[in-house]
Amino acid sequence: MDPALFRAILGTVIALVCLGLAARRGQVLFGIIKKSGRPTPDRPESPMASTIVETQSVEVLGQKKLLAWTVPGIAHAFAFWGFLVLGITVVEAFGEIYMENWYFPIIGTWPFILFIEDLFAVLVLVGIVVFAIIRLRNNPAKQGRYSRFFGSHTGAAWIVLGMIFLVVFTLITYRGAKINNFGGMEGAFFSHWAAGILEPLGHTANEWIESVFVIAHVTVILVFLLIVLHSKHMHVATAPLNVMFSRRPNALGPLLPIYYNDGQPLNFEDPPEDAAFGVGRIEDFKWKDLLDLATCTECGRCQSQCPAWATDKPLSPKLMIMDLRDHLFAEAPYLLATAAKGNRDEFGEHNEEVAAKMSATVTHELERPLVGSREGDEHKSTDGYDANGHRSHEGPVIDEDALWSCTTCGACVQQCPVDIEHIDHFVDMRRHMVMLESDFPAELGGMFKNVEQKGNPWGMNASMRNDWIQEVDFDIRVFGMEGEDEIPDDVEYLFWVGCAGAYEDRAKATTKAVAELLHTAGVEFMVLGEGETCTGDPARRAGNEFLFQMQAMQNVEVLNEIKAKKIVVTCPHCLNTVGREYPQLGGNYEVVHHSQLLASLLSDKKLTPVKAVSEDVTYHDPCYLGRHNKIYVPPRELVASVPGVNLIEMEKSVEKSFCCGAGGARMWMEETIGERVNVERTDQALATGASKIAVACPFCNVMINDGTTVRKQEGKADESVEVVDIASLLLESVKE
Ligand code: SF4
Ligand code: SF4
Repeated sequence: MDPALFRAILGTVIALVCLGLAARRGQVLFGIIKKSGRPTPDRPESPMASTIVETQSVEVLGQKKLLAWTVPGIAHAFAFWGFLVLGITVVEAFGEIYMENWYFPIIGTWPFILFIEDLFAVLVLVGIVVFAIIRLRNNPAKQGRYSRFFGSHTGAAWIVLGMIFLVVFTLITYRGAKINNFGGMEGAFFSHWAAGILEPLGHTANEWIESVFVIAHVTVILVFLLIVLHSKHMHVATAPLNVMFSRRPNALGPLLPIYYNDGQPLNFEDPPEDAAFGVGRIEDFKWKDLLDLATCTECGRCQSQCPAWATDKPLSPKLMIMDLRDHLFAEAPYLLATAAKGNRDEFGEHNEEVAAKMSATVTHELERPLVGSREGDEHKSTDGYDANGHRSHEGPVIDEDALWSCTTCGACVQQCPVDIEHIDHFVDMRRHMVMLESDFPAELGGMFKNVEQKGNPWGMNASMRNDWIQEVDFDIRVFGMEGEDEIPDDVEYLFWVGCAGAYEDRAKATTKAVAELLHTAGVEFMVLGEGETCTGDPARRAGNEFLFQMQAMQNVEVLNEIKAKKIVVTCPHCLNTVGREYPQLGGNYEVVHHSQLLASLLSDKKLTPVKAVSEDVTYHDPCYLGRHNKIYVPPRELVASVPGVNLIEMEKSVEKSFCCGAGGARMWMEETIGERVNVERTDQALATGASKIAVACPFCNVMINDGTTVRKQEGKADESVEVVDIASLLLESVKE
């Protein structure tokens, strides 16, 4: 048979079969994700043009988040950009099935283009060699849970690396033979190198090699497409969509309210009957959440940064996402069958009629609770996974110990190259456990009760909120004391003291230091005193959205009534909640952290540090100040402004800072599994050799102080090591 006829017939058959299968798979994926998930009212169905351009140019084409990890980032960029450039050669290969010596129109024969194509073919090979080395060096079989690939599908990853090699190998081989058959292709240096190897085989052999390898090339690409659509490499198709629909600028900072299907935040006073109070089943997730699950690349960047995973808790953000995704796909036949008519009956249960027609595997999956105890599960080792990082498909999909281990530090969200919104999903599952199942760590019950009845998590009396005022030797203006019903015009800032700042001794020291510095700088401020109550942050992070809404509505009402405009806080959690979550309830204020205000007073020369503090100081970035609110510089300016201070950075700092362990309402929970997060962070601070550990959050203050005490008792820390808030450090220097 004529080689040209052979490749035309075979190429057509292969292309039709593979493209048909790919189209069918695309349809199934659309059904599972878009049709099975609840509406996603918190973002537009059609993103704005500026969002599309920004996400696709910066994150997808620019590979911004991937390049944050230099070596794997460059390797991925080589592979990604390579495939974009080689798109020209893919079109050519399909054309070559029917037309000999065919080139991409106009540019296909330009030597510069041919050079770039071959250059990227080489760079793709470099990329996969780097990937192979990274995978061998991070081999989970040797490193166990400390490999970022622990629990990832490593076999599939090796298959894909092999497929990428085959794409380049078949391309260069057919192009080498093509050069021998037809000449030309100046600039294609790699293909000419292959031509030199193939030339001695003679004309007829080169004709057959060209035909066979062009077919092989097209086949490899089409099979690769099918592998992509059936594996974790689905991200090739879904990642551009996922980043386009992700929360902008990211899913850090505020949590989203619970939305009802009509796009409005859920009205807790009169909720509709079919309202979802969080996520109790996979189909309670919104479609964007399901897209997140399908997009995970299993790269393990999140897992490698998670403080819970690093301290031997059963929580890995990657494995949580993978477990949810596996469950989603295992339930897919049921979800697809019920997508059009609703997946629940009138009682909110699974549609029994449809479920009865499913296979035993699907029915079994439908019966699994989404969250629950895996105690007694033979696959539950100390870390919740068997030696290979795999779960059994028995029992709950998510281990409750994993769910409650999250500190909501945001390291996973920060690191994820495809913008997966882990915290939102975990809090949604907590919401269901708290508000519908009443199944949560017992200690949280006390915190909820205290916030609800006393307005603070410690259960202290409101009258004690002003106790700290007796401990300073200057006057503090308390709202209402002089009969005012609005904040007076001469008051620049309302000082939101916060529950910790009012009741917790170490945090009270910060409150007093900030007040004294503001007083020294001549800033007029006022406090709310007994009018303050908990912002609701710990309740919200623990999943008690109802309690958060109550607290937040009360505070917004008060703040709006007294016409608060500028608010200064010492607690990053208050900063985040009052500044970024209260706008969801109509409370819009200019909220600053004390580090920002004090840094501006320093630059305006209203504060002058004079006394030298000749010590090595390291600074711990609080998650809700740094990662969640991007305030990294002002606290460092404060520390550096003190004469004599030598600021030493910890290895994990700024965006890669390690949580103190208190966030996500973990402050009020026992920590019985693994190492203590606060002690681990204290060790990282002690490793710098600093004699002072500077903090900028009352909860970090407590946690690192406790960690330091533990290490001192064990003789692992010098008695002179001290934990200080940046305000106290500054005050020490400002005071003569
Ligand atoms: S938010 Fe922090 S603790 Fe929670 S899963 Fe992500 S990295 Fe881990
Ligand atoms: S960083 Fe994102 S893509 Fe990578 S494993 Fe974690 S969730 Fe998946």
